[in-house]
Amino acid sequence: MKKVFAIIYILFLTLNSRSQSLLTPFEVFQGKRTSTYSDCIKFYELIDKKYSSILIKQFNTTDAGYPLHLVLFSADNHFNIDVWHKNKVVILINNGIHPGEPDGIDASMMLVRDLATGKIDAPKNVVLGFIAVYNIGGTLNRNNYSRVNQQGPESYGFRGNAQNLDLNRDFTKNDSRNARTFATIFHYLKPHIFIDNHVSDGADFQHTMTLLSSQHNKLGEVGGSFLHNTFEPGL
Ligand SMILES: [Zn+2]
Repeated sequence: MKKVFAIIYILFLTLNSRSQSLLTPFEVFQGKRTSTYSDCIKFYELIDKKYSSILIKQFNTTDAGYPLHLVLFSADNHFNIDVWHKNKVVILINNGIHPGEPDGIDASMMLVRDLATGKIDAPKNVVLGFIAVYNIGGTLNRNNYSRVNQQGPESYGFRGNAQNLDLNRDFTKNDSRNARTFATIFHYLKPHIFIDNHVSDGADFQHTMTLLSSQHNKLGEVGGSFLHNTFEPGL
């Protein structure tokens, strides 16, 4: 079985480099595999080369020593952030903070490709930024058995980053270079909406998507009532 996968994978790499077809490992292996770090970056670089609606920017650095890749999508091919803020909604999407929950990495690759190729039309007033892989050190540290409660993928990254820090606990204390570079990206883009893609550690929910909010009655008068009466019903 492993041999068959190896052959399919070599075929996938060959196809991707020769005909520059833009399939993700997730699609090629029918949802059983998630992209490696290097495949993910190569995929985005290929799209960046082919489509002028895509621009990749690199921000140094992370604890693994690699920069963060920010993949920008703008349907009108303009990438001036100050102009965006006059008439666009800027959405920032983060992926792979916990690399064992890699769905967002793969989903973003497919979404960026489908936006670039025109398969999906984004609303005219929306621009998007994707952090391709946030926890690079953890993503490089792949294994098969640290999440036995999850239904796949076959292999995936480890939760801790290159310093073994949980990046989902580091946005305030900023012990990691990842978090400090994230802050640079956040202040560069000043997004109106920020989405951090996680999945649910194998818990067997009935629904496809779960919405968890902070307790509104602990957020104070203004924030709490906005969350409870406006934001949540709107979502
Ligand atoms: Zn998580």
